[in-house]
Amino acid sequence: MPAPVPVFDGHNDLVLKLAAAGRDRAALWLKGEGAGHLDLPRMRAHGFAGGFFAVYIPSPETADLADVERLMDNPPYDLALPALIPHTAAQPVAVEMLGHLLWMERAAGGAFRWCRTAAEIRAAMAEGIVAGVIHFEGAEPIGPDLDALHLFHAMGLRSLGPVWSRPTIFGHGVPFRFPSTGDTGPGLTDLGRALVHECNALRIMIDLSHLNEAGFRDVARLSDAPLVATHSNAHAVTASSRNLSDRQLQAIGESGGMVGLNLATCFLRPDGRESPEMTLDPVKRHIDHLLRLAGEDHVGIGSDFDGATTPRDIGGAEGLPVLIAAMREMGLGEPLIEKIAHGNWLRLLERTWGA
Ligand code: ZN
Repeated sequence: MPAPVPVFDGHNDLVLKLAAAGRDRAALWLKGEGAGHLDLPRMRAHGFAGGFFAVYIPSPETADLADVERLMDNPPYDLALPALIPHTAAQPVAVEMLGHLLWMERAAGGAFRWCRTAAEIRAAMAEGIVAGVIHFEGAEPIGPDLDALHLFHAMGLRSLGPVWSRPTIFGHGVPFRFPSTGDTGPGLTDLGRALVHECNALRIMIDLSHLNEAGFRDVARLSDAPLVATHSNAHAVTASSRNLSDRQLQAIGESGGMVGLNLATCFLRPDGRESPEMTLDPVKRHIDHLLRLAGEDHVGIGSDFDGATTPRDIGGAEGLPVLIAAMREMGLGEPLIEKIAHGNWLRLLERTWGA
């Protein structure tokens, strides 16, 4: 068996699973004794060479997951968003999650490393060490004076979404709605505009994936960095509020930015359903559309592993070679496949963070 093509991934939610595992987190992370998508042995065996790891603050009033899944498997649907979480409530949770992140590296005995520059990612990948980048999915832990942004940056934060989907003091995200455009409300607040400037000054990557269209336009107008949506698909194929219009995909390409292919069934299936029973044809249609609109240098993978239902044939890290094989079936050549798998992400990070 040839070695799998290395994949650098735009988004996963493994940290939530580790936090929920409590004292079993070592068995999950190091031995793969969990039902999720990612663990160190599977990542290393199947070419998961690195990626962004999200810190996400759960809402206290989170709805019953089974109810949400039932609704999302029966479109049309329109889920209400939870209320804003004040930074004073979010910060202790973020600190706890960052503790889990640091533990991941300590526990891995040299097989996993947090990275703050593209050069560090390239070095780790060359050594066969899985390379992690710290991302906040929603800026809830940052208060209005933005001091905490500097604190978290000093701790290694290199990527930030101003919102998950629930509102923050910085802006508004899209509700989970199908069918729907992403044009669902107002854009960034005054504080959101200040946050964009501060992220630019610190060279923290800004993630557009959960913003609505007005917020996306505000960032496009204000930011001096390439536009990045780490885990979003093509609205032309799947009419979800979370997917990007052709105009947005073109803007990403023109800015020298990136879009990461999301493997969540609800953003892949043209019928918008959550069910994992699907062929990989829609995956190919999304890849083809992203490549045509954003361009071959501006598409990568943003799996959403451990945060979403994925197609049965992909599952978790073990499905990355299946995804690569689907790209070969599309007739994409090896140089383009390597760009999508990791090359485009690494060059985007060099453009965003500096070489
Ligand atoms: Zn997400």
